[in-house]
Amino acid sequence: MRIRYLPETLINQIAAGEVIERPAAAVKELAENAVDAGASEIAIDIRQGGKSLIVIADNGSGMNETELAASVDRHATSKLPSDDLLDIKHLGFRGEALASIAAVSRLEIATRQQDGESWSIAVEGGRKHPIKAAGHPSGTQITVRDLFYATPARLKFLKSDRAEYMAVRDIIQRLAMAFPAIGFRLNHDGVKSLHYPAFQSLEDRLSAVMGRDFGQNAFPVSFEREGVILSGLASLPTYHKATAQHQYLFVNGRPVRDKLLTGAVRGAYADVLHRGVHPALALFVTLPAQEVDVNVHPAKAEVRFEKPDLIRGMIVSALKHGIHAQGFRPSNTTSGAALQKFTISPHGLAPANTSFWAAPQSASPQSYGNLAEAAQNIYEPLAPLVARTYEAPAPQADTQQYPLGAAMAHLHENYIIAQTQSGLVIVDQHAAHERLVYERFKAQMAASGGVEKQGLLTPDIITMDEADCAALLDHGDIFASAGLEIESFGIDALAVRSIPALLSGRANISKLLGELAADIRDNNHAGGLEEKLNALLSTMACHGSIRSGRKLNPDEMNALLRQMEETPLSGQCNHGRPTYIALSLQDIEKLFHRR
Ligand code: ADP
Ligand code: MG
Repeated sequence: MRIRYLPETLINQIAAGEVIERPAAAVKELAENAVDAGASEIAIDIRQGGKSLIVIADNGSGMNETELAASVDRHATSKLPSDDLLDIKHLGFRGEALASIAAVSRLEIATRQQDGESWSIAVEGGRKHPIKAAGHPSGTQITVRDLFYATPARLKFLKSDRAEYMAVRDIIQRLAMAFPAIGFRLNHDGVKSLHYPAFQSLEDRLSAVMGRDFGQNAFPVSFEREGVILSGLASLPTYHKATAQHQYLFVNGRPVRDKLLTGAVRGAYADVLHRGVHPALALFVTLPAQEVDVNVHPAKAEVRFEKPDLIRGMIVSALKHGIHAQGFRPSNTTSGAALQKFTISPHGLAPANTSFWAAPQSASPQSYGNLAEAAQNIYEPLAPLVARTYEAPAPQADTQQYPLGAAMAHLHENYIIAQTQSGLVIVDQHAAHERLVYERFKAQMAASGGVEKQGLLTPDIITMDEADCAALLDHGDIFASAGLEIESFGIDALAVRSIPALLSGRANISKLLGELAADIRDNNHAGGLEEKLNALLSTMACHGSIRSGRKLNPDEMNALLRQMEETPLSGQCNHGRPTYIALSLQDIEKLFHRR
């Protein structure tokens, strides 16, 4: 065995594998360099997902002749003047990106400082050509041809052009969110892909990147604890996405990916979103440089926090707080989507449909007698409120003052139509009531550490699958604190000793237990105790709420509306579906071309 020192080009190729794993990584390094150079405009052109060509031009500081020659050498950087790895003020600091890219491609740099001369250099597969005079305007343009031609093994592992392009696009979007003052352009195969003008406000930039809808359906996040500042925008629970890809984290201005974010976000929204949908958000963490290590990974995409629990806790608290502060506001996309459904048929509306919106009295032809009777009729949890709000029949004009207005009609045994001062509201009674019951459960838990239960004189014996029985009994303690006391009764049956008082006379307990067993099986109740309990309460609430199909009288409907106004988070059901949509008169007038 003979130990030998590897030649420089080979060392660079090996190192390049870590820093530059795909075209998007090269684009990231080059665009970060442009940001570090103080550019206000960065233009990127790529071909074939960046595999055959990457051109990136900036109007930043540029380099002089000596700097240019040094820039492509390994570990040459202008960004670590003090040898202190904790004092990092730029995106770059390792001084290896240009050397790495140059080692595996055909690289060309043309540059000029504001009042200097213009120079260019070419490096092919790590071999440096002499510096030449050039005719470049001030700033820098870097051209990367045939990335990985020098390392065919790597080339083989690249994905399709489209996939590589999407990765590039994602990189630029993240950088664009972190630097709203910088203008970014991206073209792919000559086609315009992204264009963000310079000097946008952070909010405008986030809307530009994440969509106008996001901007309109997000709440601001702002939180500070122990010298750490958290800010940004997060979506309302009713505005959500099928993947967690639309969640962005920035640490001290640097776009990073961190598992900590995903977990914290899931925890914060657990109460208002079911699994399988995800909020969209962009969060910015600012903290003293000594409390975060950005030098964990050659691509600098990951960070290590000195106090990860503090950061995670802050994200959860800030988001929960923000969600609650939104009260019963659902996203405006729901009413927008509703409006689009009202397409006007060229033949005019059928008469049956017009009566839909007929005068209010047609909706309540019969009188409901006195309120005591109404209160008797009403679904139990609503009763106290009916008594409180409706001691005397409220005149309609008054009721209309409420944000959710006065109930006018009950349609298809599930939809309440209410008239508000500025338009109308359509409520999904099942979704709305589910949230109300859920919040009641939580209030009971908070007040007394348990859900109010109702003992059963004779236990309900429910037969079910042996595995389901065992799974449910495993969670017996949590169920008990939620008012649902179960005991083993032979191997394939359970005895139910008590049920939550709110479910009494409403829920089909056997069905509920079946669903809870399925939840456990699908691991839907994973997570900490509180998460488990909330998931359980949510499932119970669904079973305890007024089903669609149940007729409501006007007092019941109005009581439901008033309760929604008072209940936190009532803009969405426990699964993140909206509980109501609001249409303004303006919108309606538009539909009729009155505007
Ligand atoms: P790092 O960014 O970690 O310093 P790089 O290999 O990416 O390492 O770049 C090496 C050096 O080249 C930088 O420190 C900087 O001085 C110079 N440089 C690279 N790109 C540019 C650019 N677009 N404009 C001006 N200078 C640049
Ligand atoms: Mg760099």
